[in-house]
Amino acid sequence: MTGSTGMHIDVLTLFPAYFTGLLDVSLLGRAVDSGLLRVDIHDLRTWTTDPHRTADDMPYGGGAGMVLKPEPFFAAVEALYGAVESRPRTVVLTPRGDLLDQARVRDLATSERLLLLCGRYEGIDERVHEALATDEISIGDYVLAGGEAAAAVVIEAVTRLLPGVMGNDRSAMDESHADGLLEYPQYTRPASYRGMDVPAILRSGDHGRVAAWRTRQSVERTRRVRPDLYARWERASGGSAAPRLPEDGDEGSDDAAD
Ligand code: SAM
Repeated sequence: MTGSTGMHIDVLTLFPAYFTGLLDVSLLGRAVDSGLLRVDIHDLRTWTTDPHRTADDMPYGGGAGMVLKPEPFFAAVEALYGAVESRPRTVVLTPRGDLLDQARVRDLATSERLLLLCGRYEGIDERVHEALATDEISIGDYVLAGGEAAAAVVIEAVTRLLPGVMGNDRSAMDESHADGLLEYPQYTRPASYRGMDVPAILRSGDHGRVAAWRTRQSVERTRRVRPDLYARWERASGGSAAPRLPEDGDEGSDDAAD
């Protein structure tokens, strides 16, 4: 494997082609190239036993659609890890799972090895959930056609947190959800564009005032657009961890300077 800071992820899917390209570009591509991430995409049909390589069957009790059979999942786990008991942390992607959030992503990122199980059609036989899942994760309260998009979300979110993957490790600490708040507004050049000006304080060179402005923007944005997160942040801090926020006007003019 990749050493103590790397991660090895196995994915079981009916559609390996879904992941084509995903692991070759940008952050994931660099993580793979540098040996910090290894992802093996496995075709579930490898572990079917009939000539048609059948991985699904009709649901007991009737009803629309097909259900993924348990045998290929169990056979795959035994082939990959020797025994069911030897499997690593195993995530079943499912709309009934725990909603993925940054805390869960941080937790998953501590594992050296993960197995992600992707469903399709009406889902996966319940015995796979019962006997193989250590985690059941949903990426939102909506229904996808398959678990592949959800697995891609997990892989990308986790990889960003692996030591050495982000060019500047501080950027993962500064951004939305890292401390329970949303990120402050970000700007780049030009300073003035179509009548919209970058707040002057960001070009003041005064790091203390910039930091205070950003904190206040983070808190206010979170309170405005995600009151649920704001309430949790306030509860967690017990009121005491809230930073002393500068009052309006403490920061000088927000007008763009030349
Ligand atoms: N019949 C299932 C139900 O009502 O819960 C939905 C099955 S869905 C069409 C097929 C597969 O897509 C699921 O087995 C799961 O792997 C994946 N999937 C769908 N929505 C998801 C979500 N929000 N989060 C994670 N995986 C999801």
